[in-house]
Amino acid sequence: MDQQVLLSLVSKYGSPLYVYDAEKIISQFDRIKNAFSETKRLRINFATKALSNISILKLLKKAGANIDCVSIEEVQLGLLAGFAPKQISYTPSGVSFEEIERAVDLGVKITLDNLIALEYFGAKHPGLPVSIRINPNVMGGGNKKISVGHHKAKFGIPVYQIDEVLEIEKKYKMKINGVHMHTGSDILKVETFLEAAEVLFSVAKRFEHLDFIDFGGGFKVSYKEGDPATDIEKFGKIISKRFNEICKEYGKDLEIVFEPGKFLVSESGHFLVKVNLIKEIKDISFAAVDSGFNHLIRPMYYGAYHHIVNISNPKGPEKPYHVVGYICETDTFAENRMINEVRKDDILCFRNAGAYAFTMASNYNSRLRPAEVLVYKGKDYLIRERENIEDLTRNQIITDIL
Ligand SMILES: *Cc1c(COP(=O)(O)O)cnc(C)c1O
Repeated sequence: MDQQVLLSLVSKYGSPLYVYDAEKIISQFDRIKNAFSETKRLRINFATKALSNISILKLLKKAGANIDCVSIEEVQLGLLAGFAPKQISYTPSGVSFEEIERAVDLGVKITLDNLIALEYFGAKHPGLPVSIRINPNVMGGGNKKISVGHHKAKFGIPVYQIDEVLEIEKKYKMKINGVHMHTGSDILKVETFLEAAEVLFSVAKRFEHLDFIDFGGGFKVSYKEGDPATDIEKFGKIISKRFNEICKEYGKDLEIVFEPGKFLVSESGHFLVKVNLIKEIKDISFAAVDSGFNHLIRPMYYGAYHHIVNISNPKGPEKPYHVVGYICETDTFAENRMINEVRKDDILCFRNAGAYAFTMASNYNSRLRPAEVLVYKGKDYLIRERENIEDLTRNQIITDIL
């Protein structure tokens, strides 16, 4: 996005500020759609947890997306955004039967990831179609925290338990209508996807009532110049061909489903912060900004790289900085990062701040969460107000025994 536009948005709405570029989200959505255009029935479920602002959900709905939700609260946000229950997939892990019942009541599509919930569901709702999440036992994902499809991960039903799944299906005369996997985030190699897909295909063949196969999300995007991204076009071609073969063998045009989060929204996001001060010690210049891991935790939690640009001094000489936050705990965004000379009150822009950025923000240090702005067709729209002190105290009950 144009740096002047970003600067003017900071002037208008203050800092720190999340800005999302609608055009980028739509173009990423269209890329996926086109990549799988050789399949007959394609469904793209946006992974809500990546960016759950209702206006973003509405934007994706307009583009033609469905959504994937991992909590009942995300389901509720989806309904508020106007999605029909049938457009909402609920793919939780480790939730209570009570929460599953709430999803049943709301009429959304449900995917279960363990035998205990499946048995419960069969006994209670034998006539209701349900899908299962498989653990394909492949190591995907950019780092250990986001690899969720290996054999020790908590997610999914291991392939060696499929016999038991089939027994439960038979026992309760259930209809298992979909098989699902999600192998992790930040997967680069098409081969990793294909390996896991073959496991899913071999499982799919064993079920009689399938309507869809869901490959989850995890497509990687580029975080800096030269950083490779998942070749979605190549992947689409190969997987579509293989999927069509599988449908033929199965004797039905199954729906092919993907659940991209990061791929759709990561690059659309720009996180803008203001420099509070430059602190010089021996060999190090700290640029301290009006934010911290309370607003963007990916660098600290995952060691994630976010490109940082000094948009208010783009021509300044490049120098190395430790970019740090204002939280009283180590909150280093970047070390020895070359940035155009940073001065007090400059505005720094973090790239790739659309996915797992605002949604992972907290109020640690009793700091307020930033505002969010959507830029759509050249106009800016405030889609979340900056928090204020009332937001921090709203649910507190100040006891009078003290
Ligand atoms: C998080 C998640 C996704 C999205 O992952 P990305 O890496 O953002 O594409 C998809 N499906 C499920 C079940 C998830 O939990």
